[in-house]
Amino acid sequence: MQVTNRTAIPFFARLRWRLTFLFLGIAIVPVVIITLIVITQIGSQYQIQIFNELDAISTLKTQQVEHLLQDGREQLRAIAINDDVIAGVQTPDSVPVALTVIQRLAEISSNVETIFIYTPDGKVVLASDEVLINRVVLRQPYFDASLSGEFLQAPFFDVSLQRLTLIATNPIYQDSDLIAIAAIRYNINEIDNILGEQVGLGESGETYLISQENNYLLTKSRFDGFPQNRAYTSDGIERALSAQNGDAFYPDYRGIPVFGNYHWIEDLKSGLLTEIDQAEAFSAITQTQVIIIVLAALIAISAAVIGLVVSTQITQPISQMTITASAIAQGKFDQRVAYAQADEVGVLATAFNDMAQAVQDRTSQLQAARDEALGAQRVARENSRLKSEFLSTMSHELRTPMNAILGFTSIMQKRIGGVEYNALTERYLQRIHANSERLLGLINDFLDLSRVESGRMELATMPIVPADMALKWSESLTVLAESKGLALIVNIDPALPAIILGDEEAISKIAINLIGNAIKFTEKGSVTVQLRKQEQFMTLAVTDTGIGIAPHAREYIFDEFRQVDQSSKRKYGGTGLGLAIAQKIAREMGGTINLQSQIDVGSTFTLVVPMAGTANNVAVKESLVLA
Ligand code: ADP
Repeated sequence: MQVTNRTAIPFFARLRWRLTFLFLGIAIVPVVIITLIVITQIGSQYQIQIFNELDAISTLKTQQVEHLLQDGREQLRAIAINDDVIAGVQTPDSVPVALTVIQRLAEISSNVETIFIYTPDGKVVLASDEVLINRVVLRQPYFDASLSGEFLQAPFFDVSLQRLTLIATNPIYQDSDLIAIAAIRYNINEIDNILGEQVGLGESGETYLISQENNYLLTKSRFDGFPQNRAYTSDGIERALSAQNGDAFYPDYRGIPVFGNYHWIEDLKSGLLTEIDQAEAFSAITQTQVIIIVLAALIAISAAVIGLVVSTQITQPISQMTITASAIAQGKFDQRVAYAQADEVGVLATAFNDMAQAVQDRTSQLQAARDEALGAQRVARENSRLKSEFLSTMSHELRTPMNAILGFTSIMQKRIGGVEYNALTERYLQRIHANSERLLGLINDFLDLSRVESGRMELATMPIVPADMALKWSESLTVLAESKGLALIVNIDPALPAIILGDEEAISKIAINLIGNAIKFTEKGSVTVQLRKQEQFMTLAVTDTGIGIAPHAREYIFDEFRQVDQSSKRKYGGTGLGLAIAQKIAREMGGTINLQSQIDVGSTFTLVVPMAGTANNVAVKESLVLA
């Protein structure tokens, strides 16, 4: 029994690893796909959310800024029709009352820094901040436009004040005549406050205004090193200043990548930009993504561990069974698989153990039977040896008195000493002689048989001249053949070596027996003897034209005392020992006797024996020389 060694299984062919990788594959593929989908989904959702938030903040702040502007405008309108103010412009006596009104209005509104009123020729006549009175505003950017109607001057950097300034104006009419212009300077800090509100913008977020006029920052940068009175640009700024609204990723005025929302505010002729650094925005999402990736990795590792555990659970008992099977194959029949779980593998292990038990039982039975058979064989051999010895001794012992009987009957038949017998005595003498000869033949057969059987037959290896040997056979049997009217033909293959090595006596015993049988069982026709060389064998074929042998008898006629049937014995006599002895001698010589036969056509018995050597053989040559 051959059990494959476990270590002979290639690594990746092992069930354990195949199952582990299968588990891993089953777990990892969906986890990777889901993770990728979730990560990208979270990413895009997060971006949308950020842009929405930026948009909401931007919208809110735009509204707040617009509200601030509106508030200023409304105040201006109120001032333009205020009687005290009109009076203050027209008559110096009314100035104190007008001033009080203006100052109060300026105080009430946090959006307004200063209110001032100037004449159409550019001289400030009233102002909430008295410093401004008598100043000339002729060269201010808003002046010309302020004469013709309500006007909002886009923010500009006031060089004299060294700060950003946002002015709104409203003409004051008296009976359709322009008598003065009311102006407010917005509290620019208030815009800074609105835009500086950080809610929803994290650490790095920023909202700022940038003017179209010169790309200056209208609000203070949150970051150091970025003064207001300098031109800035970025993708977002360019878009906002070309009056577009929307959002995008771009590097901001600092060159830092941001999520940005850009918004054009027409009144201010400026862009409102709401931005948050990508690094900060992504930090939250990156954290979420890292957590997801870690979770996915944990799932994959768990899958691998589960796979390993499960596959070990499955393969361990199999490995154990393999080891046990190997041990049993090596003869350790008492080995069993130790697996106590009541599952399918447990059932298999129990079945395996039952099988091992059955093998063990059967093996011990077989061993017992073998021992018994060996004992019986020994006894049988001994018996057979004793039988052969007895037969041999007995035959040998019988031969001496038999020879004596034969000798004396011969003497008597030859009437030595002038003894005379009557006819009856003579017939009796003849029958005694004939039966004694038959008995001697039988005894000789027994002797031969016992010799071969007891292994005491010693075969000689002597040079034989096949032609001479065949001549001797024909000489001794031609008379018998002729007495039956049969032709005895001897044929020798020229290819057969002139001299071969072997035991002539043994070969002749077989040949005489086969030729004798052929003559005996043939009534007419011929008996042909052919000696041939076939490769390393010599064949002796004896072909007759006799009665033939029925197929069923072709096997057993080679057994001792077996003839084709009882009628054969009655008709032809014989003991049934000849072929048995011949076959045994043939086997002893390393050859065999074959039979081909056809009823009523004839039989061919062929002796096939290996040729021990030829005349070319040095040993043979030497023995010939010595002879
Ligand atoms: P025996 O000739 O003494 O009976 P053998 O062992 O020589 O014993 O032969 C056994 C039997 O085989 C014979 O009795 C005969 O029936 C059969 N037999 C042997 N040779 C021939 C043959 N040439 N033709 C037909 N029958 C044969």
